[in-house]
Amino acid sequence: MKKLIPVLVGFLCICNSHAIMGQAFSGPVLRKIVIDPGHGGRDPGALSPDRKLREKDINLAVALYLGQEIKTHYPNIDVVYTRDKDVAVDLDKRGTMASELHADLFISIHVNSARKSTTVAVGPETWVFGGDRSQRKDDSYDVVLKENEVIKFEEDYKTKYEGFDPDNPQSMIVFNFQKEAIMRQSRILGSCIQQALREGPLRGSAKDRGMKEGGFVVLAYCSMPAVLVEMGFINSATDRRILGSADGQKKIAKQLFLGFENYMKTYAENGKYKEQKIGIKKASITTYHVQIAASKTVLPSTHTVLKSYPSIKHIICEDHIYKCKYFLGDFINAVEAQNYCDELRAGSHPDAFVIAIKDGRLVPVNP
Ligand SMILES: [Zn+2]
Repeated sequence: MKKLIPVLVGFLCICNSHAIMGQAFSGPVLRKIVIDPGHGGRDPGALSPDRKLREKDINLAVALYLGQEIKTHYPNIDVVYTRDKDVAVDLDKRGTMASELHADLFISIHVNSARKSTTVAVGPETWVFGGDRSQRKDDSYDVVLKENEVIKFEEDYKTKYEGFDPDNPQSMIVFNFQKEAIMRQSRILGSCIQQALREGPLRGSAKDRGMKEGGFVVLAYCSMPAVLVEMGFINSATDRRILGSADGQKKIAKQLFLGFENYMKTYAENGKYKEQKIGIKKASITTYHVQIAASKTVLPSTHTVLKSYPSIKHIICEDHIYKCKYFLGDFINAVEAQNYCDELRAGSHPDAFVIAIKDGRLVPVNP
């Protein structure tokens, strides 16, 4: 991957007529970022066991440090907060605000908590909007339910979120309208941020909690690449020491900044994610996915696999008998794809395996 970076940056310099000379780099230009400190006001978010440490305060502190870091290094980028003090903001307003402001990126900041007091969970995880795992009811899906259920604090939530029941993940499907181009950029942003967080003070355990997809209401309203970060666990004493100190919060913000910067310099695509091509040819990168099925012909939309996974994709390899390969997930590194693969194998796809795609064809996973 490393050797591709100069090629990509060089190419974009030539093609990008909007490049502003004199900036720290001359890759794609991001003009506006919306930072969303989760919860606030009457909604404290997750609480420490002694209830003294509140998620809403940690989120706000880290968000402000992150914004400051971006303003210091990139004064041309406009940083907007969904809240910069302890007030309640409805979930739909957060995403809608970013969309109305024509923001280029949206980062929602949260702190995790394990529902079961026996679970010793630690470390960061990063989420993007997606439906791949909407069928799952495991521990990690709990995060989606927990972050969505704050809409119950909103008085008119039943009419506002037309038919969405925060206790029923299946009803999330009505929100599943993000464009594929945006979802793809979100996954890349999520990978960059998760990687940077893992190198910061909240490393987590040896097994990376990774980048995941879930039906978050706050992300569903975003029309730009958007991620939701769960920095660490408030009920883990290890994580709490870092989350609860100003020094720890600054260090986490620094890692978020590095993840953002890596994405912006290397992977961000120009333009407002319009349907039409905008004349910028993407440099070819290898992406990693998990194949769960293959068939001789394209499966009908009524097939169980397609119904279970509305966002499943396929690639056609004409020289194979089972030429249609159906796969889930979209990662820029093989390790993350393997983590996702392990989860699928442990569940209903024991035969799942990682594949790599470059320029629209299968390539060896470890060349
Ligand atoms: Zn939260």
